[in-house]
Amino acid sequence: MSIAQLQVVAKKLIESKNSLAFTGAGISVESGIPDFRSSGGLWEKFNPMEYATIDAFKRDPEKVWTMLREMDKVLEAADPNPAHSGLARLEELNLLSGVITQNIDNLHQEGGSQTVVEFHGNARRLVCIKCGQAVAAADARARWQEEFPPRCPNCQQIMKPDVVLFGEPIPAEASSLAMGMAQVASVMLVIGTSAVVAPASYIPVVAKKSGAFIVEINPEDTVLSQEIADLTVRGKAGELVPALVEQIESLLSK
Ligand code: NAD
Ligand code: ZN
Repeated sequence: MSIAQLQVVAKKLIESKNSLAFTGAGISVESGIPDFRSSGGLWEKFNPMEYATIDAFKRDPEKVWTMLREMDKVLEAADPNPAHSGLARLEELNLLSGVITQNIDNLHQEGGSQTVVEFHGNARRLVCIKCGQAVAAADARARWQEEFPPRCPNCQQIMKPDVVLFGEPIPAEASSLAMGMAQVASVMLVIGTSAVVAPASYIPVVAKKSGAFIVEINPEDTVLSQEIADLTVRGKAGELVPALVEQIESLLSK
């Protein structure tokens, strides 16, 4: 981590009228939720291309629920980390107009962020793909002893988490909100995403084309690092975001 780099980002955020964060699985790794790359994690046991597609769910929902049940355990145990609460603090300071997230873990909201656009939905809800009925995942979980996989109270179909599986469209409202926000951002913090899952991966590109200054926070190189990012800060989100907030608070107190 370089303090000089964080100072540049701190100044950009203070000067910018409209800054956004765009986050991916990496921001929740330090909360104990593995990303698609972590070894030894959930995704080593369950290939997302086999278990996290809408076709797989329609073909064999019981099989997909063996993965969903383990994912639910991981998500339920996770708490927001200092990166989530740091972004909430930036919003509180009026230095961030919101977070667009690809994550389905609800940790931005739990960390205190008010404006969160969920590009891929949220696993706290279950939805029936036949009749549209929604229920809280927590309520279904409480009844797993009697009923697993959970069924729609209305039509008895097996419920699906209200998340975008591979092969499903992005919810129209989230998509248009996110693209609209990206077009008017002057700074975008891109945190913990490999930026290879489309169409979410277009969001930083749209922001860049509209003139935003793109800051990438990630311990590794991504497809954005060379051409799209104006500045890359290498390191963990849970360390860098709070360090950035500290820089900002010290600049503001001068
Ligand atoms: P990805 O797994 O493809 O990439 C994760 C990125 O995060 C990598 O570039 C990695 O270097 C980086 N990273 C790892 N640890 C980090 C840390 N401590 N700080 C900062 N960055 C870190 O994830 P993606 O780009 O978000 O795409 C995967 C898709 O699957 C998305 O839709 C994603 O939301 C979903 N997914 C969600 C969760 C979740 O809700 N927490 C978890 C796994 C996958
Ligand atoms: Zn139903």
